[in-house]
Parts: sequence; C-alpha cells; structure tokens
Amino acid sequence: MVKKIEKEFTFRFYAELNDFLPAGRKQKAFNHGLKTPVTIGEAIESLNVPLSEVDMVLINSKPAEMNQTLHENDYISVYPVFESFDISPVSNNHKKPLRTTRFILDAHLGKLAKYLRMLGFDTLYRNDYEDSEIIAIARQENRIILTRDKPLLKSKKVQHGYYVRATEKHEQLVEVVRKFDLYNQFQSFTRCMTCNAGLVPKEKDAIINKINPDTASAFDEFYYCPDCDKVFWKGSHFERMEKLILSLINK
Ligand SMILES: [Zn+2]
Repeated sequence: MVKKIEKEFTFRFYAELNDFLPAGRKQKAFNHGLKTPVTIGEAIESLNVPLSEVDMVLINSKPAEMNQTLHENDYISVYPVFESFDISPVSNNHKKPLRTTRFILDAHLGKLAKYLRMLGFDTLYRNDYEDSEIIAIARQENRIILTRDKPLLKSKKVQHGYYVRATEKHEQLVEVVRKFDLYNQFQSFTRCMTCNAGLVPKEKDAIINKINPDTASAFDEFYYCPDCDKVFWKGSHFERMEKLILSLINK
C-alpha cells in the first residue's frame, strides 16, 4: 500500500462559499494540510463545501478541473456558481446555463415556494419529498434545488443547487432573487400559489359564486386555478409583495 503523505496547500474561498467555513477561515487565504494524493474535488469536500456550489477553481491562477491532483504549496481559489454572469471562457467546470429558471424546494422552504410562485416561477414544493426524490426531479426537469439542508447538496448527483442562508421568508426571497438575477423574469399572477399550476384570467361574472361580495365589489381582475378551484386577486397580500419587490429593485 502506498503511504499517504500529508502536504500543505493554500485555499481561498470567495463570496457565499465562505458561509460553509469556520470563522477563522472566512474571506481570507488559509493553509490546510491534506493526505496526498488528493484531487481538488476531494480537498474542497474535506473542507465541508458542497461541490454543487462551486463553479470555478483556479490553481495558481490557472483554471482547473475537479479531478486534477494537487501539488504541494498549490494556491487554490474557489468561486461559487455564478448564475448571472457568463464566465464560460475562463471556466472548464461550467454548467450548462438554464434557459428558464425553475426550482424545487425542500421541506423547510414552504413560504418561499409560495412567494416564488406568486412572482410566476415554476416552483415545486412538498413537505414530504425525500432527498433522493428532490435530486431526481431536479435532474429530470432541469430545476435548481433550493434548500436549507447542506448535506443534500453534497450528493454528487446534484447538478444545480443553492443553500439558502436567510431564515426569514422575505429575506429568503430577496436572497434568491438577487442570487439568480430574477428581476427580469417576474410574471406575477400566472401561477397558483397553492399548487404551482398555471392561472387563467377570468371575468368577474364567471367566478362570482366563488368569492365573497366584498371582494367582488373591491376588485376587477381575477385569476383562476383550474387544478385546485381557487380564485386569486391582487389584494393587500399582493400589494405588500409588490412593495417589497420594488424596494428590492431600487436597492
Ligand atoms: Zn392551484
């Protein structure tokens, strides 16, 4: 058996990848010893950073592949998935860009799922998905996994995943809109907040028996979900959401 020898390397993680590191290693270069031979991918995983969050790695300033072996004293720069920038000319490790942004959310993100649907994003959510189910659906349907569960993103089968840092629902929405640069993709009231099906605009007369008289007299635009037989209108909930979005855009 080959005896494994520990060698020293220098790592620098950028942007939100620092969230996975302990306090003393955030936002700066640090030395780290590893048993060799070791690949870049193995080294990054040993530091508890999920590979699904990593888009580009440079070794001594040169683009590198995940299966490349490290050499003593290499300087490794690790960058997160850049959803909104085209870095393909410098990245050998770039994932195929997604044409439409679709999501699948884990059990902790039910409120965020409703908000994303309200903005028109195709968002799958159930509170009883198994991790393996989430990963399989994401692969099949080219969906981005949003999760509060770091181990889920460590699976090698995850192609596109993002760990949501914020715990408060509005902050989560802000974070996801910024992260994936979604500002230009809003299509409010095209999707049912409850079940994700497409909404159909309806004349008031057609749904009058499904809403209360106060709502009927206060609003003129209605949207109907054929799947769960619900009617939606741009009430105070939506107005608050609209204000939040406008404040986001203006920041
Ligand atoms: Zn519905």
